Amino acid sequence: MRRIYLDHAATTPLDPEVLDAMLPYLRDHFGNPSSVHSFGQRARGAIDEARARVASLVGARDSEIVFTGSGTEADNLAIVGALQAGAATEAARTDLVTSTIEHHAVLNTARGLDRSKHHVALAKVSDAGVVDLHALDAAITAATALVSVMFANNETGVLQPLSDVVRLARSKGALIHTDAVQGLGKVRLDVVSLDVDLMTVSAHKIHGPKGAGALYVRSGTRMTALIRGGSQERNRRAGTENVAGIVGLGKAAELAQARMVQDTRRIEGLRNRLETALIEGIPGRVTRNGSEANRIATTGSLSFKGVSGEDLLIALDLAGIAVSTGAACAAGSPEPSHVLKAMGLPRERVNGSLRFSLGRSTTADEIDHTVEAVTLAVDQLRARP
Ligand code: PLP
Repeated sequence: MRRIYLDHAATTPLDPEVLDAMLPYLRDHFGNPSSVHSFGQRARGAIDEARARVASLVGARDSEIVFTGSGTEADNLAIVGALQAGAATEAARTDLVTSTIEHHAVLNTARGLDRSKHHVALAKVSDAGVVDLHALDAAITAATALVSVMFANNETGVLQPLSDVVRLARSKGALIHTDAVQGLGKVRLDVVSLDVDLMTVSAHKIHGPKGAGALYVRSGTRMTALIRGGSQERNRRAGTENVAGIVGLGKAAELAQARMVQDTRRIEGLRNRLETALIEGIPGRVTRNGSEANRIATTGSLSFKGVSGEDLLIALDLAGIAVSTGAACAAGSPEPSHVLKAMGLPRERVNGSLRFSLGRSTTADEIDHTVEAVTLAVDQLRARP
């Protein structure tokens, strides 16, 4: 059976060039990067090179990149690390302001904070999936240590008004973190022009390996370490480094930088072709979720009237097509999408939603085949008693 993968927001296939770059560090160059001898120095050199590649992709200095075990860990480090450091300053900044549509890596980290020490405020979003700047502004106080707002949403792809978020946070002296996992490699991300203090990225969304991420930490930013032990990553993340994973992240960053402009233009055309064909081909029954104009090129969230997204996902999987009903982390759980709910969409629209996320290997033929398969599946599901 023909298989089509349209779930690149969940994860992407490893690029063969990334695998080739990683293999020597799994097979031959096994040294510990902290060792002084040549085995160690070989691994250290590879990490330094990867750091330079990631730094170059986001416009940072090499010393500002902290490698972590995932995007989730980078989010945890940014939030807990900045709040702990803020609480220890003379100004005693203890609080977090974030939004209702963040990834669970941010939301559940916020939920896990000790509420007797840290106040957490979640700013609401518009029905287009954009953070409400008035709500955000009202939530930021002199006690706010950190404002964390994602760069692009993982379910709708909608870009957040980061420059306004930064302006509001800075006017009250708070630090700014952005989870840019879904933006990396799709939109030019420059930490200097974005003017953020902390930024999360992850390797496996850009054709790198799973279990490798990084946090950009602007030089001089107050942040305590979460994982303590040795002095790796300049005392910001202890533990012997995942050398092959880091090399993979570095190579994936290099490839993303080289291919971003041409990949994005092509993929956006395909995503639009898919949406238009479904919206026009199944008239009155398909609605786009989130702002149409301001979003990353790869992702589209659609709601299908009168069918369940779960049922549609299963029907498409049986037809060889992989899509998602929302965040991968929530898959299998009966909970409807917290993002679409936070946008205030009616329950039927939330339950009837599917996320299509395209990638480097997606072809026009795959899109046309998917349109046919979705149309057929919707017809069959609606005809079911
Ligand atoms: N943040 C966002 C916006 C994501 O989409 C994801 C992955 O789905 C993560 C964080 C978590 O990254 P990782 O899978 O590397 O832990």
